[in-house]
Amino acid sequence: MLNRLVVQGLGFVPTPIMRKLSARYIAGETQAEAVRALTELAARGFSGVYDILGEGIRSRAEAERTAEEYIAGAEAIHAAGLDTYVSIKPTHLGMLQDEGLALELYRRIGARCGELGVFFRVEMEDHPTTDATLRIYERLREDYENVGIVLQSRLFRTPADIDALAPGPVDVRMVKGIYLEPASIAHTRPDPIREAFLACAEKLWDRGARVRLATHDAGLAEELIRRVRARGMTADDYEFQVLLGVQEPLWERWKSEGHPVRVYVPFGPDWKAYSLRRLSRNPQLMRAVIKNFLTPG
Ligand SMILES: Cc1cc2nc3c(=O)[nH]c(=O)nc-3n(C[C@H](O)[C@H](O)[C@H](O)COP(=O)(O)OP(=O)(O)OC[C@H]3O[C@@H](n4cnc5c(N)ncnc54)[C@H](O)[C@@H]3O)c2cc1C
Repeated sequence: MLNRLVVQGLGFVPTPIMRKLSARYIAGETQAEAVRALTELAARGFSGVYDILGEGIRSRAEAERTAEEYIAGAEAIHAAGLDTYVSIKPTHLGMLQDEGLALELYRRIGARCGELGVFFRVEMEDHPTTDATLRIYERLREDYENVGIVLQSRLFRTPADIDALAPGPVDVRMVKGIYLEPASIAHTRPDPIREAFLACAEKLWDRGARVRLATHDAGLAEELIRRVRARGMTADDYEFQVLLGVQEPLWERWKSEGHPVRVYVPFGPDWKAYSLRRLSRNPQLMRAVIKNFLTPG
């Protein structure tokens, strides 16, 4: 309840203060700020993910603008020589309004990224969008090698979704899933979500997938590292993915132990609306954020 009140209260916090609170999690508002943050991370030995904040777009013009901005981002990443890929939410490309439009725009981004040698990833949103997102990914796989997807261990359906993927190489960012889903379709307790993460990773490895381990859960990561080693994987075969500003000491440690770490760098003018929507959907995250602010270092 306290969390919910805090989340609601955040809506009234003046923008400059919210901006300050969000600063460590968001690279800024512009492409130049994102590229600067990614360049600084690269100098520290971290590869990156380029994410323009936004979702739920319902106008064709806006969705097309998003695609153009991603193409410009891929060009800037290429020009800066960064090991960074672009990551795009399907509803940021208008999928809620028109699945065909989102597919067309992913193709536009994928084609330019292919020319530049930049990878692109289709992100996963809440459960009403899962089927359409997987359909789009499968269509993209037919034409592009430089494309990946996100799968959420929280959802009961994910093992079956892995089985249903068409044969051939797949590149998966494995996550717990940020959207709080109903208990009828998803695990809701931490342990089953963690167990499902491990089971999904094993299932993906068994089919030869490249699995990107996106988590800040130290215990889960430890078990993943044990399994990575047991399978004889090298640093080319896996990587951790983390969010900018979240649990940095943990990823510094992983890096110093020789594990590849890629940092997700979100930015854009939509940062405030995005932060509020995210927090109001998952109030538990607010507790984590507050804890993070209050913890020295
Ligand atoms: C690179 C990346 C990409 C992602 N892409 C997607 C996606 O496409 N779709 C999707 O549904 N989800 C996505 N997620 C979110 C993911 O599903 C989880 O919600 C998120 O990573 C938190 O789960 P966790 O595994 O880190 O474990 P948790 O147990 O939730 O967190 C472990 C610890 O990390 C800290 N922590 C975690 N998140 C935060 C935060 N935001 N702020 C402050 N502290 C925090 C907490 O202190 C907590 O104790 C992504 C996550 C990452 C890292």
